[in-house]
Amino acid sequence: MTNLPKPPLQAVIIPVTPLQQNCTLLWCTETMRGAFTDPGGDLDKLMSVARQHGVTVEKLLVTHGHIDHCGLTGVLAKQLGVPIEGPHPDDKFWIDMAPDVGAQYGIEGAAAFTPDRWLHHGDQVQVGNLVLDVLHCPGHTPGHVVFHHAPSKLAIVGDVLFQGSIGRTDFPRGNHQDLINAITTNLWPLGGETAFVPGHGPMSTFAAERRNNAFVADAVLAQ
Ligand SMILES: [Zn+2]
Ligand SMILES: [Zn+2]
Repeated sequence: MTNLPKPPLQAVIIPVTPLQQNCTLLWCTETMRGAFTDPGGDLDKLMSVARQHGVTVEKLLVTHGHIDHCGLTGVLAKQLGVPIEGPHPDDKFWIDMAPDVGAQYGIEGAAAFTPDRWLHHGDQVQVGNLVLDVLHCPGHTPGHVVFHHAPSKLAIVGDVLFQGSIGRTDFPRGNHQDLINAITTNLWPLGGETAFVPGHGPMSTFAAERRNNAFVADAVLAQ
């Protein structure tokens, strides 16, 4: 069982859309200001969780342009009057396709949007008094980013890495080798004790994946 961090960062995972995508509400306990990462749908559910925890949502963060992660993000940003930060501009083509892809996956009201801030490797995003680092991790999509809060040893990795698996690379502009490289050169150096929230399914740690992951365990990559 991997636990979510303690103050000054707190977080809850809220699965949304028919694809059970892990939207995370993370917040700064000093200011009670927070952000949703990947608010892809089920906006009423998301806002009721924010209210329940007394969090004022000040921005929306997006890991990548897939519909379950960002289909309703533009709509929520307008409702709340808050900015969107991320993903990397190489995912613009995915966001632009949101209305078509949304219809295909049964995500009603999915809409394209332009983030207020595109993110690049090495950028930082602020939530309340918290500062998260941005890592560009292409492969699942070309513009996928990961958010890392070093003091909490927590990463929000979207569809880069899962417990036991990695993101699909058979979508347009996916690339298997890019994804493996992103995981080993960007994520592993963050430290084995780092816990991560994947885009789908349960949390894990980088150490556990380096032991057991079917695609990126150290023993698998050494073969
Ligand atoms: Zn995805
Ligand atoms: Zn996903």
